[in-house]
This record gives sequence, structure tokens and C-alpha cells, in this order.
Amino acid sequence: MFKLKNYINGELVNPISNQYIDNYDPSRGTVYSHIPDSDERDAEQAIQAAKAAFSSWSITPKENRSKYLLKIASLIEEQLDELALAESIDNGKPLHLAKTVDIPRAAANFHFYGTGILHYAAHSHSMEDTAINYTLRQPVGVAGCISPWNLPLYLFSWKIAPALAAGCTVVAKPSEVTPMTAYLLSEICIKAGLPKGVLNIVHGLGPKIGNSIVGSKDVPLISFTGGTKTGAHIASVAAPMFKKLSLELGGKNPNIIFADCDYDKMLSTTMLSSFANQGQICLCGSRIFIEKSIYEKFKADFVAKTEALVVGAPLDEKTKIGAVVSKPHMEKILSYVELAKQEGGKVLCGGKEVKVGGEFNNGYYIAPTIIENLSYDCRTNQEEIFGPVVTIMPFEKEEEVLMYANSTQYGLASTVWTQDITKANRVAMNLHTGIVWINCWLLRDLRTPFGGVKSSGVGREGGFEALDFFTEPKNVCVKLK
Ligand code: NDP
Repeated sequence: MFKLKNYINGELVNPISNQYIDNYDPSRGTVYSHIPDSDERDAEQAIQAAKAAFSSWSITPKENRSKYLLKIASLIEEQLDELALAESIDNGKPLHLAKTVDIPRAAANFHFYGTGILHYAAHSHSMEDTAINYTLRQPVGVAGCISPWNLPLYLFSWKIAPALAAGCTVVAKPSEVTPMTAYLLSEICIKAGLPKGVLNIVHGLGPKIGNSIVGSKDVPLISFTGGTKTGAHIASVAAPMFKKLSLELGGKNPNIIFADCDYDKMLSTTMLSSFANQGQICLCGSRIFIEKSIYEKFKADFVAKTEALVVGAPLDEKTKIGAVVSKPHMEKILSYVELAKQEGGKVLCGGKEVKVGGEFNNGYYIAPTIIENLSYDCRTNQEEIFGPVVTIMPFEKEEEVLMYANSTQYGLASTVWTQDITKANRVAMNLHTGIVWINCWLLRDLRTPFGGVKSSGVGREGGFEALDFFTEPKNVCVKLK
């Protein structure tokens, strides 16, 4: 069976322990490859390789750094089919989603920062004829980049690309649940001729490899995307070492639907914002609040469309809902459906495992689920489920729905549906989330800052904010007389 390798100092290498972890294909529920079960020795080799490479990479002209990133982007585009297939098998997501969203966006990340760095400027401030101050932006050092399993290559590249563009070298750890596209990326970097040690990818478990990276004195900066609990742990290790920290964490995103919305557009987009990638996108809207006058109509239409979604093998073109990422994750999602029932919730559709038959019968499939009749503050409506499960709830007044929407510890994203532009802007202003979509979902200009507030994270990624994060500002003040 295929064994993945770590990518350290420009080479593909086995873990020092020679120990491996099973890698599951969630669509079949079977092991299909093995991942290095790396330990602190592998992490240390990677960190030292990145440290050694930093002295030359950080002064490599940005035009040359840009060329490497653009080369990687074009190789990802060339290998789109192979990467999409790998991601679909690794993650359980429908192949068409990997082909049209995840992999093209991973290429776009390298392209965006490969060009963005050429236009990144710093400030100068004149004190008239007394002095001039200017700000140098210098790469911080070795960046530790840790990413989750839901959008494996996309989120991995979202960190790595700006770090490399800014002149940092990188030690990266993909989620051990979905390591395959990160492995293929290491092959792509070798093909692109990326100098050795500039990017190092170490596979393995979070508590071993992740902890080694976060706790290393040679890694002054951590960019982490994952769960809020893991983020809190990372912050507790990194904060006393005064590391630069960016945390992109969980969400419990509200979707607010007013009666005056464009109903058809709202309904089709709400299907996506609820169930795309089996609801395993941090930006999915999992709490849907509907103005009372259209609640019954929305409920009937939403349930009918949801029941019509095809749950099946990710490689089948008809499939809209693939497998969730792992057996423990499936069990966690289903345990929340049970909790919802205990809390008085009424399951309108779904709520159970689906057996899709044939060679995929042991895969991890859940019917898309809609639940009503829950209070806004029950656990089901407060905790992140991260699966194809949404709750619906009517509201009458704007202040009331804002209170519901803002009631969780999370503040990642929200969606507002209305044709009244004044109301839309007022509601956006009052939502406690880092991102607000009005009459759309998941639309993004990569130049905008990305991230959440409250327990959804600290710091912003995306745009030039990411280049700010991977560089340190140094103010130089020159006296003129
Ligand atoms: P986890 O927090 O479990 O894991 C994220 C990454 O951290 C993985 O690579 C994991 O490794 C690693 N890790 C685990 N423990 C440690 C540790 N002690 N030290 C360092 N690293 C560690 O999240 P999931 O992978 O389950 O991802 C789902 C979560 O990610 C959801 O909460 C989701 O909302 C959030 N997310 C947030 C986004 C955002 O932009 N705000 C975007 C996408 C997802 P391993 O896999 O080996 O455990």
C-alpha cells in the first residue's frame, strides 16, 4: 500500500521512527494509504532545514520568489484532475466540488500571492524638515502553518503562499485525516525547483507534530486553522513565548432571511450554504432564521429540495452530498441529532446515516438534516456541529433576530437576505461576525481581510493583511539635520 513521505530540506523522506498511520477513504470506509507518524525528531529536522534556508530565501528578490509561486500555481492547474481526485478520495467530498472549487482556489492562492508580493508597499512619514520615518517590512522567520481537513489543499495553500511570498520559510503540517494533496504539493514543489528547506511538510498527529512546531523556539510565528479548542491550546503554548499568532477557528454561522428577499435566489444559495461539502465548511450557515410571514413556505420548499439531494459516492457526477470525513466525525454529527431531539427539536428530514450500497456501503454518509422547534440558546444552536445539519427558526423583529444571531461564542460569518439595502447595511453593521454576505454566500475577493471575531479567531488572513502578518514592521527614523 502506498506510503506518503515527509518533505524535508527539499527531499521526500520516511519518518525517522518508520511508523505509519492508516489513511482512510471515507467514501468506502477502508484504509487506502499510510501516512508518516512523524515525531519531534522529524519536526526538528524540518524546522532546522527551514531555519537554514531562511537566510537566503528572505533576501531572494521578490521577483524570483514570485516566479516560484507562479510556477507552483501553474503546476497545480496542470495537475488539476489528479489533485481533485486525490482530494475527493481523501476527504469524501464530491469530485466536482474538488475540481471546481478546492483545487482551482489552491492554484489561485499561489497566483494571488505570487503577484501580490510585487505590489506590496510600506509607508513613510515625513516630519517636515526634521526627520523622515519609514517602515521596513521584513519576513519574520520560520512560519509554522497548521491546517484542517475540510478544504485540505485550499486552506494549506492559503497559509503557505503568503508566507513564502513574504520571504518566510515554512514548516507545515496538514491534517493527518486528509494528507494526500499536501503530499502531492511536495512533489509539485520539487518539480518547480523550489530551493531546499524553503517549504517543509511534516505529516503526523496534531499533539505530536503540531505541538513540536508550536512549542519550538525557532518558529516565531504560527498560522493555524482548525477547531476553537485546539486554537485555545495553541494560544496557551505560543502566548508565553510571544509568538505572532493567527487563529482561524470554528463557527456557528447565522443565515438571516427577511420576507422581502429575492426568494428563488435565496433558496438556491441557502441549499449551498447549508450543505456544500457536507456542511463541513467553516463558513456554512448552520442556523437559519426566517421571517415569520414566509417561514412555512420556506420550510416546505427547503425540506423538499433537501430531500431531493443525492447522497452518494463522491466520484459519481449525480452526487450532491458525499461522505463526511471520518467515522468519529460521523458519530459526532449523529450524536448532535440525538441531542437536538432531547432538546425538543423536530427532525424534518435526514437525521440518520445513509447506506449507499455496493463498494461504498461502509462509507460515512449522512442524510442532509433540517431541524426545527429548538430555542436559540440550546446546545444544538450554540455548538459547532460541522456537518450536513441545520436548524431553522422563525423570527418577527430585526432586534430579535440580531439577538439570536449574536448569541453564540462564535463570530465567523453571517448571511443576510433582503432587497432593502438600508436594512441590509444596518443588519450587517450590527452582526458580530468577521464576514457578512448580503444576498450571496462564499463570494470572495482575495484582497479582502478574512477571519472571525470572538471564539472564531484572532487576526486576519487574506489580502495584504496576510503579508503584514508574515512580515515584521520596523520603523526607521532618520534625522534630517
Ligand atoms: P482541529 O483543531 O482538530 O485540527 C486542525 C489542525 O491542528 C490539524 O492539522 C490537527 O492535526 C492539528 N492539531 C491538533 N492538535 C494539535 C495540537 N495540540 N497542536 C498543534 N496542532 C494540533 O480541527 P479539524 O481538523 O477538526 O478542522 C475542523 C475545524 O476547523 C472546525 O472547527 C472548523 O470550523 C475549523 N475551520 C475554521 C476555518 C476558518 O477559517 N475559521 C476554516 C476551516 C475550518 P490532526 O489532524 O493530526 O489532529
